[in-house]
Amino acid sequence: MERTLVILKPGCLQRGLVGEVISRFEKRGLKLVAMKMVQLTDEMLDVHYAHLKEKPFFQWLKDGMMAAPVILCCWEGYSAVQVVRDMAGATRASKAVPGTIRGDYSVSAQENIVHTSDSLENAEIELKRFFVDSDYCDYPSPLNQYKYAPDEM
Ligand code: UDP
Ligand code: MG
Repeated sequence: MERTLVILKPGCLQRGLVGEVISRFEKRGLKLVAMKMVQLTDEMLDVHYAHLKEKPFFQWLKDGMMAAPVILCCWEGYSAVQVVRDMAGATRASKAVPGTIRGDYSVSAQENIVHTSDSLENAEIELKRFFVDSDYCDYPSPLNQYKYAPDEM
């Protein structure tokens, strides 16, 4: 099963949308295997958003991500990276399709509620960035036979 990183951004926390967003992933059938609340730092964001460091909005983006704590979550499931990415919707939330998280809760390119890993490779890198092995909880999934075909588990 794949694992992917979701960051509930400061705006998600401040606007009281944490429960709504987590509930969407739960209802889709994904399994929450690690979660913690963290105040991100400039140094952490320099690494996490290194691909954007030349962009004119880089400092605004980092300031927004440090404006309040974030909630880091690891979700596990069949094809979890793509499923979660599709649930988040387009980066520029004004273009995000209704029904997606960004399309339902934001119109901003910056303040777009969630970060989601964009590939399996990056999911592994990002999860290692924020979680250590002991952060992960191993617990039974008794409903898996109702969620998955045998070759999807
Ligand atoms: N971002 C922004 N302006 C832009 C593009 C991106 O403020 O024009 C911010 C936005 O918060 C986005 C983050 O930078 O979520 C990371 O950008 P990326 O291209 O990786 O998009 P994502 O993977 O989050 O959809
Ligand atoms: Mg990205």
